Amino acid sequence: GQCTQVCPAAAIVERPAIRQVREALADPDTVVTVQVAPAVRVAVGEAFGLAPGTNLIGHLCGALRRLGFDAVFDTDFAADLTIVEEAAELVDRLGTGHALPMITSCCPAWIRYVETFWPDLLPHLSTCKSPQQMLGAVTKNWWAQQVGIDPDRVVNVAVMPCTAKKLEARREEMADGPRRHVDHVLTTRELIRMLKASGLHLPDVPEETPTPMLSEGSGAGTIFGATGGVLEAAVRTVHTLVTGTELADPDVHAVRGTAGVRAATIGLGGRTVEVAVVHGLHNVPPVLQQIREGSSPYAFIEVMACPGGCVGGGGQPHGFDMAVRRQRAEGLFSTDAASPSRRSHENKEVATLRAALGDDERHRLLHTRYRATVTPHTGRL
Ligand code: SF4
Repeated sequence: GQCTQVCPAAAIVERPAIRQVREALADPDTVVTVQVAPAVRVAVGEAFGLAPGTNLIGHLCGALRRLGFDAVFDTDFAADLTIVEEAAELVDRLGTGHALPMITSCCPAWIRYVETFWPDLLPHLSTCKSPQQMLGAVTKNWWAQQVGIDPDRVVNVAVMPCTAKKLEARREEMADGPRRHVDHVLTTRELIRMLKASGLHLPDVPEETPTPMLSEGSGAGTIFGATGGVLEAAVRTVHTLVTGTELADPDVHAVRGTAGVRAATIGLGGRTVEVAVVHGLHNVPPVLQQIREGSSPYAFIEVMACPGGCVGGGGQPHGFDMAVRRQRAEGLFSTDAASPSRRSHENKEVATLRAALGDDERHRLLHTRYRATVTPHTGRL
């Protein structure tokens, strides 16, 4: 996969989780949930003859239920949750000046890279867990209670564009005691194998909607899957938090594009902040060196290990180039443009969940700390 070129996480060997997922689906005592990452929906169609960028989320919901999943959640929901948490954290740090620039923490290959090679910069990482892990945590600790299911019966599966997400799911911080946030991670390719083995031609499966409570997603959540999308989503919400008014145009064109490092100046009412987007780990060292030397001009930086962001992840259908990455990203950005809501802080399910959790539980479930040592992981990838 692509990660072999860029991913230092040793997550480069894809160990299929298909057998474990099938066993969970066949076990009458389990309640098996699945979440689908943004980048998956715009690439999975390529295996069924559709153009890159075709958004098949509705068909995926229908197909995943036919495979036997009891609840189908949308990682877009958790991307919105991540943005609301991360934007609040950034506003806090802008006020105190603590550990600026703040850097995104949703890419596990990037996290492992900092832990291994730049441990002195760990305080700059956002404390937010990734959307995958936030969703897993709230599924077992909140949703199960809401629907009256023993959380120990819940098995959480995640469909991800990414081999490093398998490693993230096994990190010791990504659990609540013995209860893992996410039990099994399928790559886009593994899901395609399961669909084909079941005789499901995805474009022909009737469209359905995801399971309520953890599924509402704004356009801002959708663009998480493309380089610059996390930063753009965050800017929309930070602007509202700082100025009390919505960004007039939610399209933050200054941070879009495919250059390896993109910098922009963002106006926040009476002040401006410098931000940057970096994709591809080979582009990272000069940006980190500036931070180490105390000369970084930035307040906030998005880093994604894969060129193009998650649309170019190591678990996506094989045989793609930069043009295909761009088409997949365009699928996400056009979904955002057509979305009735384009701001994470407008997500009503996110607001309901955050209010229900309260500050202590919210912090316990959704945030973490990273350490300079390489975290041992249990079992095989
Ligand atoms: Fe995984 Fe996305 Fe990071 Fe690539 S950029 S390693 S797909 S999280």
